[in-house]
Amino acid sequence: MNPGCRTARPGTGRKVNRTFIQVILPLRLEWEPYYALPEGTHVSLGARVQVLFSGKTYTAVVCRTDATPDIPPDKIKEILAVEQDIRPVTAEEIRFWRFISDYYLCTMGEVYQAAYPTGRIAGEKTSVLIRQRLQRREEKEQARRAARRELLEKRIQAREAHLDKARKESVRETLRADIVRMKAQLAALQETSAPVEDRTSEGASICLTPAQEKALKQIQEAFAQGKNALLKGVTGSGKTELYLTLAKAALQKGRNVLYLTPEIAMGYQLAERIRRIFPAEFLSYTSAESPVVRRETADRVAGGPYFVLGTRSALFLPHHDLGLVIVDEEHDTSYKQDSPAPRYQGRDCALVLAAQHGCPVILGSATPSLESLYNCKTGKFVLVSLAEKYYGSGAEDIEIIDTQAERRKNGMEGHFSLKLILRIRETLRQGRQVMILRARRAYSPAVQCENCGQILRCPDCHVALSYHQDKGRLICHYCGHTEPFTNQCPHCGGPLALLGAGTQKIEEEAANLFPQARVARLDSDTPPAQAARIIDAFAAGETDILIGTQMLAKGFDFRQVALTVILQADSLLGLDDFRADEKAVQLLSQLRGRSGRRGGDSCFIIQTSQPEHPVYQMLSGAGPDLQMAERKDFSYPPFTRLVGLILKDENEARLETVSRKLAAALRTSLPDILLSGPYAPAVDRVAGKFIRHIRLTFPRDASLKTRKERLLRTVTDFCRDNRYDGHVSIDVDPA
Ligand code: ADP
Ligand code: ZN
Repeated sequence: MNPGCRTARPGTGRKVNRTFIQVILPLRLEWEPYYALPEGTHVSLGARVQVLFSGKTYTAVVCRTDATPDIPPDKIKEILAVEQDIRPVTAEEIRFWRFISDYYLCTMGEVYQAAYPTGRIAGEKTSVLIRQRLQRREEKEQARRAARRELLEKRIQAREAHLDKARKESVRETLRADIVRMKAQLAALQETSAPVEDRTSEGASICLTPAQEKALKQIQEAFAQGKNALLKGVTGSGKTELYLTLAKAALQKGRNVLYLTPEIAMGYQLAERIRRIFPAEFLSYTSAESPVVRRETADRVAGGPYFVLGTRSALFLPHHDLGLVIVDEEHDTSYKQDSPAPRYQGRDCALVLAAQHGCPVILGSATPSLESLYNCKTGKFVLVSLAEKYYGSGAEDIEIIDTQAERRKNGMEGHFSLKLILRIRETLRQGRQVMILRARRAYSPAVQCENCGQILRCPDCHVALSYHQDKGRLICHYCGHTEPFTNQCPHCGGPLALLGAGTQKIEEEAANLFPQARVARLDSDTPPAQAARIIDAFAAGETDILIGTQMLAKGFDFRQVALTVILQADSLLGLDDFRADEKAVQLLSQLRGRSGRRGGDSCFIIQTSQPEHPVYQMLSGAGPDLQMAERKDFSYPPFTRLVGLILKDENEARLETVSRKLAAALRTSLPDILLSGPYAPAVDRVAGKFIRHIRLTFPRDASLKTRKERLLRTVTDFCRDNRYDGHVSIDVDPA
């Protein structure tokens, strides 16, 4: 028994006047079991109790304190103990979980697990250790900053000495610019490393431009009418500046702020920016943090005041007194959790959380989702536009290069066209930076035998293995399976050819083509600690070309980028997904927005073998209207609501039979609902399991709730009757 628990006395035999409670267990249970309280024990809603369930001990959450069991009371076990050292879950948290469980058709236990991952529950008990570890972390961080300061000071001195001697004006110009930039970095470092004593920071004052001022007024008016606002602003227009202005106002009123971003790689630069303005309230939260750090963050949120920057899981912190919720890059599909349940959409849940707390939401994007634009049309949100970049903009150029045509003219050097090479050289010569996106990581996305023509595949998935040169291995990007690369076909022994180029290969080619340039790479193979260094170095102008995957397009604020490039843009097109075009346009626009952030000319180059593809025409601004019309014609969201069913089974024949049977059962129970499938998705086997999808299209009306409940009941009954539990998952509003 844990020393932090008050042990409940075993029952004394008199079973009269027992009090019953219901609890949420961290399990995929469809019901909330009853327990009895030992005499003299009282608990409140949200209390954490230890209970025995199926022979195992769990930390459960009390979700009902005065339950009337519908089973014989003598069958009901007593709780083991009430946890004394763990902060209870609040009624608001439980209400939010209830919404997620109802809307996303999952169990309360699954939501509890998402909100309080096991690590966090365990982590909640080790308080002394935590403090020590946090202190060591803080010391390390201070040391890191000190080392960085020292380095910067040295570099500034070296450049100043050089400046004294340099004659050529162009060299002097570069040196001066370097010195100014480094001094700014030094100042920023000194600001962040100053110890925080004053707990009520004022927040540095922000001076808005007239256009921003106007947008701010519109947002505040929307809030005053009880409406949420969608801020559509070109990249660099100062959306973040506006969020922070609104946040400051909320904090000054003693309310708290939640700022959601889709991914934390981009959150890194942002975090530093917010920390400087709100040093006392600032917290960052991601699911990548250790349980210890997460627990500390949750405690500080419970205490408040706070300004928390986080990914979607930050929705599950013990929020209270919320004054503002910010959803940045609201169109980003990584707000949606694919797996495991709850398969929730972070943006949509943020709207619900805010509504439950009676606080306004500001959603922002340069390329808003069709869902949010639809909400503006129906009057649910107020659309606010910000069309000018803060630093103004020079000429903005888009060039589409047809790689097939170039190849015919001998105009390609590896994966770079000669036109592109010239542009990159020119940009580098001007002392400005280049970003290159390639949507595949690894060295080669596929490997083929030159003799028998076989493509090497993962033994457990229906996908090609990628070649990672640095590791000398073939890796499956779906299940992680890996094997050594032997340069010999496993089927016939023939020699292997590398197909296509991933980021590693592009990095190699760039290093050869531009030997003077400093080239770096950023993708999900980069360890997180190194990623921060790569971002810092590029931001500081210490590297010239940054190559990476989709990650590059998101939210970064690099000053000197004048040219952004996407290679083999074709890989974004033609996916079997009704959102493919929308996603491609968004990614391309985001990437384009990474250049020219401090004014000056900027250029965006697309290399593709399908230059006529409609996606490229949509970059001009007519995109959303065209897409909206298409969605309407085909009855896709936002005009309808989709629910996807995913069936997985290692036995393909059984999967075929059962998925047809389930589709038939659903057609019977929901006769007027459009159902498609079962069909095999593009990758129809992962980690040894075959996959089938079924999709239902619901009208967007008042019948949705009851129909979804009927769907859930049909699926649950079907799985029970066919002993098919654990093979079917439900995905509401699939991304
Ligand atoms: P967005 O979020 O729309 O991409 P940001 O808020 O990041 O734009 O603004 C782009 C750049 O312009 C940032 O470096 C930001 O500090 C600067 N900026 C924007 N508005 C202002 C302002 N009113 N005062 C000072 N700097 C501003
Ligand atoms: Zn695999």
